[in-house]
Amino acid sequence: MNKNRHIADRIKAAKARRRLKAEDYVKGILAGDRVMLGRAITLIESTRSEDRVKANEVVEKCLPKAGNSFRLGITGVPGVGKSTFIESLGLKLIDQGHKVAVLAVDPTSGVTGGSILGDKTRMEKLSTRDEAFIRPSPAGDSLGGVARHTREVITLCEAAGYDRILVETVGVGQSETAVHSMTDFFLLLLLPGGGDELQGIKRGIVEMADMIAINKSDLHLDAAKQAKRSYRNAVHLFPPKRSGWTVPTVLCSGIKGEGLDTILKHTAEYVSTTEESGYFRTHRQGQALHWFEETIEMGLSRLFREHPKVSQLLEDLKKDVQEGKRTPFSAADELLQAFS
Ligand code: GDP
Repeated sequence: MNKNRHIADRIKAAKARRRLKAEDYVKGILAGDRVMLGRAITLIESTRSEDRVKANEVVEKCLPKAGNSFRLGITGVPGVGKSTFIESLGLKLIDQGHKVAVLAVDPTSGVTGGSILGDKTRMEKLSTRDEAFIRPSPAGDSLGGVARHTREVITLCEAAGYDRILVETVGVGQSETAVHSMTDFFLLLLLPGGGDELQGIKRGIVEMADMIAINKSDLHLDAAKQAKRSYRNAVHLFPPKRSGWTVPTVLCSGIKGEGLDTILKHTAEYVSTTEESGYFRTHRQGQALHWFEETIEMGLSRLFREHPKVSQLLEDLKKDVQEGKRTPFSAADELLQAFS
């Protein structure tokens, strides 16, 4: 019974969505209507091709009103305290007069059906605030899909007046690169004690960080200070950042709200120095181009694999390559010829 009602509700919502025009969504978003923002995000996440066309129109129309925000990427292994930290930071930002959107990139949700980031009841206090908009990670089938949706959602949130965008991800792999390429500043949360290998953090991720915060320093102050020292030394050995920014290492406690002012002071300093140098703008321009190219590549790759001749030939050619009957290059050339 309940299930039937659930399905009926979904059909009703889908019909309502179809009746809405792109302008209706845009009008609602620009007026800061959270329900409309939520519906537009559902439209973005839809796989129906007519929804896709409408979603593109909504995002393009919001674009001129977007961009006026600080986009903060936050990563760290599960349990490091991300949601606790984001809740404290979000409430602080709201106290300072900001509107905060919290988004997540969790490619595991589509693969496992569960999610590292989304399952728990998270950010209870922040989620009750009108000035906060929290959206869990879209359930996409690939990191590329999830990341693209999140990037579009950032545009919508900015157009709806959210001027602090927090994008959370887990510190275990590829998703950091995606979040790094859609945010202005990348914050890595670490635990006191244990090197990054012990914490399951890859060196590349440490190098990507614009700031390293040793969280839960309320629990183990000495270990946290020690970790801070060793990361400060490690950071000096990395190649200098193109932004010219020197990566600060700080202590914090999300649960006690300690160290947050220092973190915000550093991010403000980052914005003012990189705006002055022009890096802030060129970095965003580079990111936009990156997503442009990435989307073309994703689209081309899909078109290629769905092409009737290509899909017909693909498996045989793969076998020939595996068995050494064909070189990878001539087999690939043949497929590309079949596509053109
Ligand atoms: P996430 O998986 O990274 O989002 O981590 P959570 O925010 O869910 O926190 C994991 C656990 O660590 C929870 O039991 C929190 O209460 C606890 N925790 C989070 N931040 C802190 C902190 O700053 N200090 C202490 N002592 N515990 C914390």
